[in-house]
Amino acid sequence: MKISKNTLQIIEKLEKNYGSEVVKYLNYETPWQLLFATILSAQCTDARVNIVTKELFKKFDTVEKFADCDLKELESYIYTTGFYKNKAKNIKSCAKVLLEKYDGNVPKDIDELVLLPGVGRKTANVIRGNIYNEPSIVVDTHVKRISNKLGLTKETDPVKVEYDLMKKLPKSHWILFNIHIIKLGRTICIARNPKCEECFLKENCKSYKLKN
Ligand code: SF4
Repeated sequence: MKISKNTLQIIEKLEKNYGSEVVKYLNYETPWQLLFATILSAQCTDARVNIVTKELFKKFDTVEKFADCDLKELESYIYTTGFYKNKAKNIKSCAKVLLEKYDGNVPKDIDELVLLPGVGRKTANVIRGNIYNEPSIVVDTHVKRISNKLGLTKETDPVKVEYDLMKKLPKSHWILFNIHIIKLGRTICIARNPKCEECFLKENCKSYKLKN
């Protein structure tokens, strides 16, 4: 696969500014904790999820406890993350499937991961990248928005964005791309007010070039 010069420059600049450490935005100690934390992170900030899981994982400290839990009790722990009824139902069902099919472990294969209740490609890729170190691109709101601005995709559907990025980015940078772009999106390329003039990617950014 031939990577364009512009894409290589973007990657080099991201790495120069943000390093090559695989930063964890969600707190977890086990694969199933990351899986449930990621389910909770839909439409919610990582900071809020981390506050919620601090108490949640103390109370429910095994997959079995999630599988056997009283839904109302689980809801009471996670309601501040939004869509809590659905999330509680999915987490409980997911815990049951993990026990029934995988002996309480989290599968590695993306086709198996996406069959778990409440798990889409985004969550599956979080698990593959963070737990199994498998090259995978997590397309969240920052990655979707900023990949469009940079000209790496024209798609808005996260799965199509993921496939475009898989074609454009070197595999060695798939996991780090999400980590770097989240940082850029939180500090410089802020959705409502991108600070383009101070952005280290402005010479490589399609959106910036179109406006200037
Ligand atoms: S130049 Fe502006 S639009 Fe482009 S990535 Fe930087 S902040 Fe975002």
